[in-house]
Amino acid sequence: MTDAERRVALELIAAEVRDCTRCRLHQTRTRAVPGEGDASTEVVFVGEGPGQNEDREGRPFVGRAGALLVALLGHIGWGRGDVFITNIVKCRPPGNRDPEPDEIAACAPYLQRQLEVLDPAVVVTLGRHSMARFLPGARISQAHGTTRLADPATGARDATVFAMYHPAAALRTPSIERESYEDVAHIPGVLLAARERRAERARASTGQGVAESTATSPAPAAEASAAQAATAVLDPEADPTTDQLTIF
Ligand code: URA
Ligand code: SF4
Repeated sequence: MTDAERRVALELIAAEVRDCTRCRLHQTRTRAVPGEGDASTEVVFVGEGPGQNEDREGRPFVGRAGALLVALLGHIGWGRGDVFITNIVKCRPPGNRDPEPDEIAACAPYLQRQLEVLDPAVVVTLGRHSMARFLPGARISQAHGTTRLADPATGARDATVFAMYHPAAALRTPSIERESYEDVAHIPGVLLAARERRAERARASTGQGVAESTATSPAPAAEASAAQAATAVLDPEADPTTDQLTIF
C-alpha cells in the first residue's frame, strides 16, 4: 500500500468512527476521536479512551496526559507527528470511567482496521485496558517495559508489542513517571529489533521463493529472481518506512 492509499484508508475509518453509533458511548460524546498521526509510521501508540479535552477537540492525547506523552516522546527525540496515536475506545466514557467490556468489543474493529492499514513494527500500549487487548493476562506492574509479539488477530500482522503505564498514572505517581521515562527510552531499540525481525522474515520468504524456482526452472532464471529479491530487500525505495524515524 502506498502512503497516499494508507492516508485514504485511515480517513475512511475515521469518517466511520465520527458517525458511529455502535455503542452507548455515542450518546454522551461531543466528538469521536479516531486517532491521528503519520500514516507511514512504524510505531502506533494505543491509549484507553478520550478524556474531556479530547472529546472537545476530537483529537487524542491533547490534555495533561497528552502533554506528558509528548514529553516522553521528546525524551527519545520523537514528536507526536512521527507516530500514530489512537485509543481502545474512540468516544469518551462519561466522567472518564473505565470503558465497559461491551464498549471495548463494539469499538475493537476500528482499531483492528487501523492496525491492518498501518502494519506497524511496534505497538506501544498505554495503560491496562490497552495492554489487556494486546497482552491478555499480563499485569502492568510486571509487563511495563517489556515486549511480546502481537497476535495477528489484533490487526497488527507482524508487530512487537511494548507495554507502558498510562501517562495519567504517571501524572499521579512520581515513581511511575520515572519508570515511564525509563521505559520510553527502550522504544528505539525495540523498533530496531522489530525492523530486523521483519526484514528477516522478508528475506526468508523471498529466499523460499528462490529455492522453489531453482527446483523448477533453469539456473539463469533462478539467478535473475535472486537478484530481484535482493534488490527488493535492499532498495530503500521498496520500503519507504525504514527511514521514517530517527532512532539514535
Ligand atoms: N487518555 C487516553 O487514554 N487517551 C487519550 O486520548 C487521552 C487521554
Ligand atoms: Fe462507536 Fe467506538 Fe464510539 Fe462506541 S466508542 S460509539 S463503538 S466509535
